[in-house]
Amino acid sequence: MSTLIPATTSSGQQVFILKEGSTQTKGRDAQKNNIFAAKLMAEIVKTSLGPRGMDKMLVDSMGDVTITNDGATILKEIDVQHPAAKMLVEISKTTDNEVGDGTTSAVVLAGALLANAEDLINKDVHPTIIVDGYAKAADKALAILKDMAVAVEAGDRKTLERIAATSMQTKLISDIGKELATVVVDGMLLVAEKKDDGTSKVDLDNIKVEKKAGGSSSDTRLIKGIVLDKEVVHPAMPKRIEEAKIALVLSPLEIEKTEFSAEIRINTPKQMQSYLDEENSMLRSMVDKIESSGANVLICQKGIDDVAQSLLARKGILTVRRAKESDMTRLSKATGARTVTNLDDLSVKDLGYAKLVEERKIEQDRWVFIEGCRNPKAVTILVRGGSQRVVDEAERSLHDAIMVVKDVLEEPAVVAGGGAPEAEVASRLRDYATKLSGREQLAVLKYADALESIPLTLAENAGMDIIDVQVDLRAKHAQGKKWFGVNARTGKVADMMDEQVVEPLAVKEEIIRAATEASNMVLRVDDVLASGKSSAPPMPPGGPGGYGGMGA
Ligand code: ADP
Ligand code: MG
Repeated sequence: MSTLIPATTSSGQQVFILKEGSTQTKGRDAQKNNIFAAKLMAEIVKTSLGPRGMDKMLVDSMGDVTITNDGATILKEIDVQHPAAKMLVEISKTTDNEVGDGTTSAVVLAGALLANAEDLINKDVHPTIIVDGYAKAADKALAILKDMAVAVEAGDRKTLERIAATSMQTKLISDIGKELATVVVDGMLLVAEKKDDGTSKVDLDNIKVEKKAGGSSSDTRLIKGIVLDKEVVHPAMPKRIEEAKIALVLSPLEIEKTEFSAEIRINTPKQMQSYLDEENSMLRSMVDKIESSGANVLICQKGIDDVAQSLLARKGILTVRRAKESDMTRLSKATGARTVTNLDDLSVKDLGYAKLVEERKIEQDRWVFIEGCRNPKAVTILVRGGSQRVVDEAERSLHDAIMVVKDVLEEPAVVAGGGAPEAEVASRLRDYATKLSGREQLAVLKYADALESIPLTLAENAGMDIIDVQVDLRAKHAQGKKWFGVNARTGKVADMMDEQVVEPLAVKEEIIRAATEASNMVLRVDDVLASGKSSAPPMPPGGPGGYGGMGA
């Protein structure tokens, strides 16, 4: 299998192409080794697919523990060495970035595609033919998905909530998935910008997720405004202001120190006093400008001098300093305030509105809540939960839910979940395959089998009998019942649209694209050249043959 590099020319001369210590794996060995590694990755995440999937406990080199069920997170946290396995980690990352959900499915599908390709390679089908067949099957699969998808009307809250709930059902926080789905959809509809064609655009920067361990997960809620992890700057300031008029200031309320060193000669106490008076009057005039604008809340991105602080306190202006730049932008979108750099420009027109600004104690910290904004274009979801681990996982689940709602707002079409679309596409691909010639047909059939591994894995994870499920599913789809899939919660094969398990079309499309791309990339490789430093991936004991296939 692995050989050192000195190659010999036809005339018997030795040529060294690679550095000493490099290894080369060629042909079938290379393919089998890569396929094996990729299948292994799929095997790791497979058991976490779906609502009955198991969680993984990941321990990093520092001993930190993460408990998750999120495919992308699992693959991100484990330190993968093998180049082919790394490719699968890549697709889970791409899927996560593109659509935010479906990462486990993409890896499971890629693993199944490769396992099935291996069967064909063993039967002497050339990888190029498999690659072509897979590409054709993927194109056809995408067309079938588009054809079967159901359009979502603008403002169809129910569907959006089902989408969010389905994505969260598969996570640790599934018990409160329904409540959280409402939180997510409320927030997303506020920040979505409607376009003329009925779709919306969502900038995820406008939906801020703040987390704090403590309380219970059901305390997680939407704040129509922004939460700042900062306290009110002066103890004598009010901690609660209703009907807040908010000034957002980007410049410091301090006397700026000069860049170059200057010398100020003071000879008498009187001079000293007048110098200080001068400083104080500059600060006073700054505070006066804020007061005369009518603001009763000031959020400043920079520092605030002690003297200015006590002046502001005396005037009863609730002040926060050193707010993050990103929060200033969000505050502006949420409250409708215009950020001001030069205090001379500050006027009543620039002020934003919030029904309530209040400093609250959140566990050991004090945070300032700016809430009850009118028609806010930026909002916050405050995630609570019994422990840091719970809020971390809740945050990941919310991320998925936010992403799937975004997917549907941007591409308003959905399919059922529970492996129904995969089973339907598989069934139609089998019909399509009969129209193809010879070996390509074999590849398309294998592609269909691989797709079926999604409902079957869901069934397996739910402890169902996968042979029964397979037979049942095939029969239903042959009768044209296109939304029949596996309800992992009830352990039955059922119409998943009726069961309200709904997913974005965009996610299913991305799964097909990402998995096909990854498996084809692995299949095209027939030569692995590894330089000496990162030693070549070791072959598993017993060789690749000793490993069971994936899925169906
Ligand atoms: P992924 O990372 O691929 O999103 P998940 O663990 O979130 O992995 O599982 C997603 C799969 O679970 C999808 O195929 C989805 O349709 C399915 N699913 C969600 N809810 C149910 C349910 N109640 N019954 C069966 N399958 C479900
Ligand atoms: Mg998911």
